[in-house]
Amino acid sequence: MCGIVGAIARRNIVPILTEGLKRLEYRGYDSAGIAIVDGSIRRVRRVGRVAEMEAAVREENLTGILGIAHTRWATHGGVTEPNAHPHVSSGEIAVVHNGIIENHEEQRARLKSLGYAFESQTDTEVIAHLVHHYFKAGGDLFVATQKTAADLRGAYAIGVVALADPDTIAGARMGCPLVVGLGEGENFLASDVSAIIAETRRVIYLEDGDVVAVRRGGVLLELADGVRD
Ligand code: GLU
Repeated sequence: MCGIVGAIARRNIVPILTEGLKRLEYRGYDSAGIAIVDGSIRRVRRVGRVAEMEAAVREENLTGILGIAHTRWATHGGVTEPNAHPHVSSGEIAVVHNGIIENHEEQRARLKSLGYAFESQTDTEVIAHLVHHYFKAGGDLFVATQKTAADLRGAYAIGVVALADPDTIAGARMGCPLVVGLGEGENFLASDVSAIIAETRRVIYLEDGDVVAVRRGGVLLELADGVRD
């Protein structure tokens, strides 16, 4: 169970995401990846250190104001680049995930019957296709993430972005930590506060069952229990 960092801002967030991942390195991981929404979903993944991913990111001149990044500790599928996160569905949805989806085989069969093709051996890839399936039907990333979370059994913290909604990072948590960081005209999502502490000290700790839409101008939070102090 490793790291997630997401950021939406008015400045280039690629250095924020790579620095965030470096602050989570001590937890151990086997591969790292990043996806930026910038006219298309641009993704760089590498087996090995965050520094190797960072070098590739620099080589490809990856910049942008909305993105998600991940360090993976493989549980389902080997340590390979196609299994590294983010996972992308149809070039339109990108997902990072910490944890284990217990009903991934059942969901994989369902999604295959809906016409989705799988590119990895991970449990995580079902999340990308489920969000795509629901987003296509309703056009709302927050609602699509809520519906996806309702289909999942197991433990997860997820971060999701959509090509068609370049002002949102959706998140959901069940059994794995996830926090929202509040900035000025910029906001963040992370699996641990240490990943975003250089950017803000104002954080919201999500609880199991919470779903969130992190936007540039604010945060929409649907609490699992409807009320909380
Ligand atoms: N179960 C997922 C995978 O194997 C996520 C592992 C993690 O938490 O990094 O890809």
